[in-house]
Amino acid sequence: MEKLILKNKNKVWFERAIFISWYCSLGDCTYCYMSSQKSLIKNPEKAKRSEASILAEALICKKLGWKIGFLSAGYGSYTAESILGLCKKIHSIYGEKLWLNIGVLPEPTIARLAPYLEGICGAVETTNEAVHKKVAPNKPIAPIEKMFSVCEKYNLKKAMTFIVGLGETAEDFSTLKNFITKNKIDKITFYALNPIKGTAFADSKGPSMEYYLGWIRKTRQPFPKIEIIAGPWVNRVENIGRMIEAGADGITKFPAIRLFNSRFAKKIEQEISSAGRDMEGTFTILPEIGIDEEIDSLDSTLFDDGLKLELKVKLAEYAGQLSKNRYH
Ligand code: SF4
Repeated sequence: MEKLILKNKNKVWFERAIFISWYCSLGDCTYCYMSSQKSLIKNPEKAKRSEASILAEALICKKLGWKIGFLSAGYGSYTAESILGLCKKIHSIYGEKLWLNIGVLPEPTIARLAPYLEGICGAVETTNEAVHKKVAPNKPIAPIEKMFSVCEKYNLKKAMTFIVGLGETAEDFSTLKNFITKNKIDKITFYALNPIKGTAFADSKGPSMEYYLGWIRKTRQPFPKIEIIAGPWVNRVENIGRMIEAGADGITKFPAIRLFNSRFAKKIEQEISSAGRDMEGTFTILPEIGIDEEIDSLDSTLFDDGLKLELKVKLAEYAGQLSKNRYH
């Protein structure tokens, strides 16, 4: 198959979605893990992940050369005040502006967050209207588009997610093309549907690889500048080279801490290399983390002594996890 001319020869990056809460006030999208958990997670505060754990993960991303794809949470899991506090801290740790994917945000919240944000991601998932109504009945697209127009006012970039395999067909590409054009989307993440136990898609096999690659390829052709991120699950890592050849700039979704230096991690690095590209950061070489120096140097106006202590504990836990696969 003829290879497409790639957008550029830059490195391929990995970006990690950092989950900041397991709560979602909707909890009824039929493909989503939350839809199988909602009854168990009634209290948004209890479903929040600890701040130290989130911040330690951001530090790991920085140390290993991974981008932060976005901070991710379900609808209604954070107040404006609490997400602002978290963004300030992560921005201070990571040193770059962030992306958020935590549902539709009102303009006053966006205005307060804007100094810390590169952009906002709308969890669109599919542009086939009938499929969307069925799989995400209470997450209409219109408010997401409205949020995108607010982003423009604050010079924020716009990203969207798209799950291949929800029931759309190849003919639906025209609706995606129109959506990207209309909303001036800067970045799109293509997930391959990963059937989750307890959801309506539990028995699905997910899309074929050719079909999934087709969505990346067809998007790259008319949009040479858009950032395309491929989000395959571990079972598809042997096709990452083909995803890059089809037009992906980066990859996501890989559980890179748990599977650090595993055979899957090594395979991804090989795949990137076989596509003629280099990887930004690493999945296999554990750098010196320097826990005390890292944490002691954090801005004390944002990180008090108690939080610094918690962070040291969490960071040591992550470092231990990363070194588990060291000799495999
Ligand atoms: S809004 Fe997002 S987190 Fe909530 S159920 Fe739907 S997909 Fe899941």
